[in-house]
Amino acid sequence: MFVGHFAAAFAAKKAAPKASLGMLVLAATFLDVVWPVLVLLGVETFRIAPGVTAFSPFDFQSYPWSHSLLMTLVWSALLAWAYYRAASGDRSGAFWVGALVSSHWVLDLVSHRPDLPLYPGGAAREGLGLWDSIGGTFVVEGALFALGVALYAWTTRAKDRVGSIAWWALVVVLLALWIPGPFSPPPPGERAVAIVGIIAVLIFTPWAWWVDRHREVRPSPAVGTAGPT
Ligand SMILES: [Zn+2]
Repeated sequence: MFVGHFAAAFAAKKAAPKASLGMLVLAATFLDVVWPVLVLLGVETFRIAPGVTAFSPFDFQSYPWSHSLLMTLVWSALLAWAYYRAASGDRSGAFWVGALVSSHWVLDLVSHRPDLPLYPGGAAREGLGLWDSIGGTFVVEGALFALGVALYAWTTRAKDRVGSIAWWALVVVLLALWIPGPFSPPPPGERAVAIVGIIAVLIFTPWAWWVDRHREVRPSPAVGTAGPT
């Protein structure tokens, strides 16, 4: 999944209003932050195999440290703890940061063919294969993205023009990168994919953080002050 992970981050702002959207995006995409680094180090492997799924040409041969269920839980705990320490005790925010890291595995489980390990060294591979259908992927992931965008837009409001323009530009750029994917020629090489993946993190995390600084959580509608009780 791609925009589906961002959808989870956008939606989580309502539950974790103190956490910056940059932190939420980092959490939701964290397994894909670890993955390209391990690919470049030669620890994890994949190959570009056009047709392996209809939507994505990536054949994930081995990625137990970034994408096994067990390691996902470890990464979730680590990131939640790091956020808890850095955000001086935002307990519920830390919970949601951890939940977002874990949501990545669930969303990948939906989209990938059976290639997700349960734990390093395990033989089982899980995946429900939504990527076998281009239309199905657009419908399901697109609906998730629309929901996430709507929730963040309802939960927050722009403090200035940047808060509006940078936010909607982020939405448009993500869609512009995602929609042509299955109709584009495959990427030139595995290393290039990993490098682009790292660059994407370095762009989208600060971008989301910047958006969030220029928006504020809408005050919840006052309850019980409208008239006599
Ligand atoms: Zn992933």
